[in-house]
Amino acid sequence: MNSHTLLRTVTGDTQPPASQAVRPPLVEIEHLAKHYHLGLSFSVKSVDGVSFTIGQGEVLGLVGESGCGKSTIARLLTRQTSPTSGQVKIAGQEIADVSGEELKRLRRTVQLVFQDPFGALDPRMRIGTSMEAPLAQHRIGTREERREKVMRMLTEVGLDESFYERYPRQCSGGQLQRVVIGRALLLEPSFLICDEPTSALDASMRTQILNLLTDLKRRHGLTMLMISHDLRVVRHICDRIAVMYLGRIVEVADRDALFKTPRHPYTRALIAASMLDRTGLYAPEIQLRGDLPSPLNPPLGCRFHTRCAHAQAKCSQAEPEFEAASESHQVRCHFWRELQPDRSAEAGSP
Ligand code: SF4
Repeated sequence: MNSHTLLRTVTGDTQPPASQAVRPPLVEIEHLAKHYHLGLSFSVKSVDGVSFTIGQGEVLGLVGESGCGKSTIARLLTRQTSPTSGQVKIAGQEIADVSGEELKRLRRTVQLVFQDPFGALDPRMRIGTSMEAPLAQHRIGTREERREKVMRMLTEVGLDESFYERYPRQCSGGQLQRVVIGRALLLEPSFLICDEPTSALDASMRTQILNLLTDLKRRHGLTMLMISHDLRVVRHICDRIAVMYLGRIVEVADRDALFKTPRHPYTRALIAASMLDRTGLYAPEIQLRGDLPSPLNPPLGCRFHTRCAHAQAKCSQAEPEFEAASESHQVRCHFWRELQPDRSAEAGSP
């Protein structure tokens, strides 16, 4: 029985589980795994059986500590690496099957914005030339039309036309991230993946870039995957949030439900650590202890048991299944019912 079937059994209805978007899906990930083999007997299970969908026009946040497998999912979605097993479909098409012109179209449809805008741009090229390059590569427009598109996009991302002639070294990190986002949007993608897009920026720049992404998402009807270690970032922009731990998703919920009633001890710890819990409800009970275990040798049973303040004998013996805490909320913990004090009414929104 797969986890989706199980959920339908648990909930007794046909509502999609929270790992499935309510809107028609643009992105469908099924049992995705990426294992890196290191010699005969070692393998790193970077992503290990992940399933979720992202609806058209939806922003899904993917959060977790560094090394939990988030960026591997971005690489799998853009075919920079191949899965060990599982499926990725974009607009109904299995991406492992595409080649030639179809692959070129896929590469245009799915765009990626990285953490480091300095690394994403050639320091020897003017901003205008860097932005025009993907348009030329996809044979879009004449030279003059490409220049006009770039000028319009510079304005749309909040920069003036003088940036066309500048070099990256003449721009701040925030300005360069606007350039990188604009360059991605010039190809009119339907799916934008942002991998820690603000982690190299200071707090005020971070807010500006998140506001820009929110605005662009609305204007362009973008579907987005926002990858971050920072819950404040995903809370700002996402409709739904998936929490990842050591290669697996441990909780998925609508944004407000996740912050109001986090069910998994790891999610609560992340909320407490990010100081988003203004009530102090979760802080004393949950401190993240120790470091993320090595994905070379993940703990048996619940992977979080070595750091969980609530671990019991069962936790190191059996891996918990995904269960539906509500129609739009799934959690992977044996004891989520017992642990949940259901004091959400007291807590209110964080
Ligand atoms: Fe903690 Fe056990 Fe739940 Fe894992 S299954 S999160 S160890 S209580």
